[in-house]
Amino acid sequence: MLLHGPEGVGKQRLALWIGQMLLCTADEAPCGECQGCRYVLAGQHPDLYWFFPRPRLKDAEPDIEQVKEEYDQAVAERVKEHGLYARPGGSEGIYRYVARLLVQRAALSPAIAHRKVFVIGDAERMVPQESSPEAANAFLKLLEEPPANTTFILTSSEPTLLLPTIKSRVVSFRVSRITDDEVRRFLVQPEVRERLGAGTTDDERVLQAAGAPGRMLSHKEQDAAFARARAFIEAAHGGRERWLRTAFAQGGKGARGAFSDVLDAVSVLLHERGRAAAISGRDQAAVAAARAMRSVEDAKIAAQQNVSPQLLSARLMRDIADLGA
Ligand SMILES: [Zn+2]
Repeated sequence: MLLHGPEGVGKQRLALWIGQMLLCTADEAPCGECQGCRYVLAGQHPDLYWFFPRPRLKDAEPDIEQVKEEYDQAVAERVKEHGLYARPGGSEGIYRYVARLLVQRAALSPAIAHRKVFVIGDAERMVPQESSPEAANAFLKLLEEPPANTTFILTSSEPTLLLPTIKSRVVSFRVSRITDDEVRRFLVQPEVRERLGAGTTDDERVLQAAGAPGRMLSHKEQDAAFARARAFIEAAHGGRERWLRTAFAQGGKGARGAFSDVLDAVSVLLHERGRAAAISGRDQAAVAAARAMRSVEDAKIAAQQNVSPQLLSARLMRDIADLGA
């Protein structure tokens, strides 16, 4: 299945909860007390695999056990932080050696439970397919004909970036934003308080979260990306010379990660502008923003396919200016 919905709303948390429910041995699952539940909560259930974007390993073709170890550590860190983690940076991905590990583990029988569960967070960041069709194909085949007693739960806040072949093989569920009251209830948990530190009022945090509490955990990174996105949109309206200067400032292919973060923020800003325009009856401006958002989506896909941020920036700024968004 695919859980999609706003970033930071808790999709992976929900996916793990479903995993716990599937691996719980009590009648009223998930009980939170049986061995299965305790292993899941500790991040150590041998039949639950949790993959998500990570920095690329230095070794391009690492040993499978090395990849497993790396993920065990990453999961342990997330568990230690009570499942509170910032959004992975734009250069982190689910690389093809992860798909290799996944395909290999899916072929094994469950170790202690009756089934295996694979949770794949931010699944749209999985293997840039053109570089390794065989890894992507093996994964697709797995989704098409999952081994007996195996459940795949994918999550994504950018489901439009998922391969159509993946989307056609999953049952999709939308995870909606939670209410501000629920965000407040999340905020008062001691581990959340500790993680967020002092300096911001609860009211400000509720605003930052906008129904997706995870956003409070990445707001520093988000603030930086939003500052660059605002400058980007402003420069789009500043004429050719500023396009070129801003485009060069986005860096080359190595800067793809940070650039993806900027594009995400540009999308959000355009969405807000479009919504404000629609509410105040400025239809043309609303349509312009919607069209520009489509150009941003195209740029995101091209960035995933390794087109240079400089080239994409120049093109996108011209689109934004032409549309008057
Ligand atoms: Zn249980």
